[in-house]
Amino acid sequence: MAEMLKRVDIDFAVYEKAGEVGGTWRDNTFPGLFVDVLSRQYEFPFHPNYNWSRKYAPAAEIWTYIKKVARDRGLTKFIRFNEGIVAARFTNGRWHIETGGGNSDVADVFVCATGFLHKPLLPDIPGRENFAGPSFHSARWDHSVPHAGNRWGVIGSGASGVQITEALAWAGCDVTQFIRRAQWVHIRENPYTTWRERLKLRLPGGYVREQRRLWQFINETDRWRLEPGPQREAMEREYAAFLDDIKDPELKKKLTPDYNLGCTRIPKSDRNYYEAVQLPNAHIVKGHIDHIEPDAVVMADGTRVELDVLVYATGFDAHAYMRPMNVTGLNGTSIDEAWRERIYSYGGIALPGFPNLFMLYGPFAPVNNVPVPLGLDQEIACIMRLIAEARARRAAIAPTTAATEKFLARLGTAFPGTVWVGGCKNWYTSRQPTPVLWPFPQSEHKAFFERVPIEDFDFIPVG
Ligand SMILES: Cc1cc2nc3c(=O)[nH]c(=O)nc-3n(C[C@H](O)[C@H](O)[C@H](O)COP(=O)(O)OP(=O)(O)OC[C@H]3O[C@@H](n4cnc5c(N)ncnc54)[C@H](O)[C@@H]3O)c2cc1C
Repeated sequence: MAEMLKRVDIDFAVYEKAGEVGGTWRDNTFPGLFVDVLSRQYEFPFHPNYNWSRKYAPAAEIWTYIKKVARDRGLTKFIRFNEGIVAARFTNGRWHIETGGGNSDVADVFVCATGFLHKPLLPDIPGRENFAGPSFHSARWDHSVPHAGNRWGVIGSGASGVQITEALAWAGCDVTQFIRRAQWVHIRENPYTTWRERLKLRLPGGYVREQRRLWQFINETDRWRLEPGPQREAMEREYAAFLDDIKDPELKKKLTPDYNLGCTRIPKSDRNYYEAVQLPNAHIVKGHIDHIEPDAVVMADGTRVELDVLVYATGFDAHAYMRPMNVTGLNGTSIDEAWRERIYSYGGIALPGFPNLFMLYGPFAPVNNVPVPLGLDQEIACIMRLIAEARARRAAIAPTTAATEKFLARLGTAFPGTVWVGGCKNWYTSRQPTPVLWPFPQSEHKAFFERVPIEDFDFIPVG
């Protein structure tokens, strides 16, 4: 967003509550984390990187890349670090912003690029605060704790829990993963890129374009999440076969999911999680955790697992969006009030009653098979057009309630038959029955943002 604003010479500032860029990739430094789409698909479209070390880059490499983009593109000077915004109110046609440090600012347009997996969620387990050893959320990894010589506990079987357990197990640590429900896990290789591949990317000609066309084709024809049929059945067979790597029938039973594939985000494993958990130093404990003691986790069936370190791989409050920031729109309506009954948005980017407020990857924006940077690129291009339209009319812009309801109704009809309504508990539906996802093919994402009708918006004169 900053790069696009810079290009059209709009006066802007970026407020970042942390001391460095990187968001997810700055905060999540746990062992085993790598990006789950092709590294090349996780680039900003305007800043290619020809040097990814692996097909799916390790997290640290993504963070380094983001820092480099900010520096090379001259964006750092626009960022006010260590300035978290705590409140923003639309008054007299402008956004009045307050930071945690007591500073204030006024802006015509307010964009919330606050992330959808940002606010760590800790479980409500009795005795959690009594644990005597180091304990931390996966997004707050304590690198001062040595891997070796400790008995590690990992609570959670989502993408983070799987990757952490796998990494600790292969590192030879004594690790116990506590799971409530088994996950489908994608076991796949993560080869190093060769110098030939890197060189080909730099060559003039069609190689990059050709690759992009291929990805687009794959994403477009990859419809198993959206509709039942032979493609979905083939995927289910492929994933069920990964479980055949588990020799012990008891362990296999514990790790076999009881809901349909894709209902939760699928953890990716590049060093075979199923082999890792069969190592003698790795243990899977399945069931409900009753409470935590200073040196142990105690299960509802009385099993007591003694531990030195406890990791909460328990995910994020994916429905918080820009909150706890206190955002207030027209007529003094706060975002908490607007979303009290249900979380909604127009296209994941805007809200009726909140003029000149835009969200990046807001509710319903995560697209089932579109890499985040590409999805963001399409959203941002649309937001830039809406900002230009509002400026031209000397007005503030907000979607109409009717257009928002029409968008939501269309979403509602798209979900039946998709994998996300397949009887599992997932972060898409943790607060409401309608998953906060984009349930249409990739082409519709592009088409929607390219052709957002201007009649879907109200213009409020701002003088
Ligand atoms: C462990 C993990 C692994 C992931 N892996 C993948 C993956 O493999 N592939 C994929 O496509 N996606 C992945 N994601 C999703 C990932 O979050 C997005 O791909 C992407 O990083 C979102 O970028 P963002 O800038 O929108 O949000 P974020 O990266 O979350 O950045 C938000 C920024 O806003 C700042 N901020 C928040 N609130 C305020 C405030 N009030 N004031 C000032 N600053 C504020 C934060 O400090 C942060 O720097 C993963 C997420 C997690 C948590």
